[in-house]
Amino acid sequence: MTTDSPVSVTREGDLAWVTIDNPPVNATSTAVRAGLARAVIKVQGARVAILTCAGRTFVAGGDMSEFDAPPVEPHLPDVVQMIEDSETPFVAVMQGNVLGGGFEIAMGCAWRIAAKDTRFGLPEVNVGLIPGAGGTQRAPRLIGMEAAIDMAASGAMLDAEAVQALGGLDLVTDGDLAMAARGFVADLPPRPVAVSQRDATPIAAEVLEAKRAAVAKRARGQASGLLNIDALQWAYLPFAEGQPKERALHLDLRQSAESRALRHAFFAEREVARPKAAEGAAPRDLQKIAVVGGGLMGAGIATASLGGGLKVVLVERDAQAASSAADRVAGLIDGAVARGKLSADKAVEQKARFIVTADYADAADVDLAVEAVFEDLEVKRAVFRQLAEVVASDTILGTNTSYIDPREIFEGIPNLSRCVGLHFFSPAHVMKLLEIVPLPETSTEVLATGFAFGKRLRKVSVLAGICDGFIGNRMLAEYRRAAEYMLADGALPQEVDAAAREIGFPMGPFELQDLTGLQIAWANRKRQAGSRDPAQRYVTISDQVCELDRLGQRSGKGWYDYVEGDRKPRPSAEVEAVITGYSKAQGIVRRSLAREEIMARILSVLANEGARIVEEGIAETDAAVDMVQIHGYAFPRWRGGPMQAADELGWDRVAAVMARLAEESPNSWTLSARASEAAGV
Ligand code: NAD
Repeated sequence: MTTDSPVSVTREGDLAWVTIDNPPVNATSTAVRAGLARAVIKVQGARVAILTCAGRTFVAGGDMSEFDAPPVEPHLPDVVQMIEDSETPFVAVMQGNVLGGGFEIAMGCAWRIAAKDTRFGLPEVNVGLIPGAGGTQRAPRLIGMEAAIDMAASGAMLDAEAVQALGGLDLVTDGDLAMAARGFVADLPPRPVAVSQRDATPIAAEVLEAKRAAVAKRARGQASGLLNIDALQWAYLPFAEGQPKERALHLDLRQSAESRALRHAFFAEREVARPKAAEGAAPRDLQKIAVVGGGLMGAGIATASLGGGLKVVLVERDAQAASSAADRVAGLIDGAVARGKLSADKAVEQKARFIVTADYADAADVDLAVEAVFEDLEVKRAVFRQLAEVVASDTILGTNTSYIDPREIFEGIPNLSRCVGLHFFSPAHVMKLLEIVPLPETSTEVLATGFAFGKRLRKVSVLAGICDGFIGNRMLAEYRRAAEYMLADGALPQEVDAAAREIGFPMGPFELQDLTGLQIAWANRKRQAGSRDPAQRYVTISDQVCELDRLGQRSGKGWYDYVEGDRKPRPSAEVEAVITGYSKAQGIVRRSLAREEIMARILSVLANEGARIVEEGIAETDAAVDMVQIHGYAFPRWRGGPMQAADELGWDRVAAVMARLAEESPNSWTLSARASEAAGV
């Protein structure tokens, strides 16, 4: 028996049991690899070695905290090889998630058996890697090239029955796993050819091309998907040639900016879920919530809350609005069923937990009420006055406002310690981000409950301080301003959009405005006209575009032209005339901006504003800013967020770009302390 090792070996007659016990997910840490290597030696002489894991899951991946350092012996590919070469054959007995190194170990075994609800994956691509312990070489030999591509290049998870159908499992059981293992080893089939010595299944050239194209399309610039496909093709070489190639690429990628960024995103997600401001506080249990206002946002919030298992009362202003809101929520739930995201049974069960009403009294017994009515201070105040009259004095009250100061919204409401901003993103049942905005009075218990609520809805919640636009929309405003200045100075919308897509955004700022409509921002600009800093540069191109009735796709034209029935944006001569006319009227000599320059400007403006947000304490950390951008604004995850991207780019570069912007548009940009420091100012 190895003491202190997470891997133990026990003999039972001619059987050897090898058990990995490395909570929480039995990751392949150095100690686990060393323990397995010792175990292979110890089991020699037994008829068969049964490899199991303690707890809820088989090995569910590597220990990512070890990835920044050089790899330590014994290396996983060597351990898997020892298992495959062992005189005493191994049978992997699996439950839970068999991921990454876990699946690689299993493929080194002679046989594999699994509980029915086990899931298999090679998710290294999600952290910018390829498998490094034979995964790309054994998977095409065990389950076929097509399935291997889906797993390694797209991060697809397969369930046990699918893996069995592909020939990757010898037995799947929905009964007792240990019993099934005993039954299996009692009557072992002849030892099969080691997986590494089989032939990878062929794949038709067109199928391979189609898979490549699909992966490239989704990648938005991320390299690791296609690299996984490349590595999988080495499975057509002899294993002894393909495997070292895989290992070398894996080790290279560990040091790539892409993998660093994706690992940063992985850890940042966990970090933001535990803000310092809510430290030590226990959340309240939530059973039933109210959503007030069932428009675009309210319907989404209600749907997400039903998905999170809560009872939901949706309060609308009158019977007719209530009926439309009910239809909206039913439509979202039915849509999820139609897309195969939700079972029909679950939909029925969710609808049974949902009521819609025009009577605030129906919300009297809720634990939390979220307001999502019109973006109007007086309307919101009236809603909370009515709510406060019916709910308990400590019922949590949340506002989904995008811009209004929550302190003003809750003014006069008794017990401000229960009030908080809960800012969802559109569409709220899809977008992962939730900004949680405490008032000075908000209790840590209420804050912690906000985070628990977000978790229940499977959101990434980020603590945000009070300022115009909180974290995300404040950064968006700067991004848009930079984009408009570029139009005035020489770029065209299609050039800015192409640069944004090159960064990895699914859409550029102008295409996105066309999709969502230009009128709300136009109305906002009109409202803010009086309070704008007169020294700051204001470009009127957007206003002129709106005045031409070019309000976006829904009005048939916006920053781009559209032809009936086609959403493809086509550059518009009319818009170009507005832009060049504006430059001329302002006496600006237009100069063309290279794509790289536009990209650097977008990234620098976002990072500079993000740094200011952290410096002002609006966000606790850079990680928080990055999570807001990734989960609320589709910033490419593989760049890790604008703060991570700026770290890679260098803050001196950010400072240089900002200096250039300040030169072109005096009094219009505030340099963050971080960028000033980097510039040596
Ligand atoms: P919306 O106009 O689609 O919906 C507002 C709903 O509130 C309507 O159904 C209306 O009938 C209802 N309502 C109005 N007064 C009411 C009252 N007194 N009692 C009950 N219901 C009432 O607006 P929306 O886009 O869903 O936005 C709602 C809120 O969410 C706003 O504060 C907005 O700033 C915020 N928000 C919007 C977005 C977005 O992208 N649209 C994103 C984040 C936050």
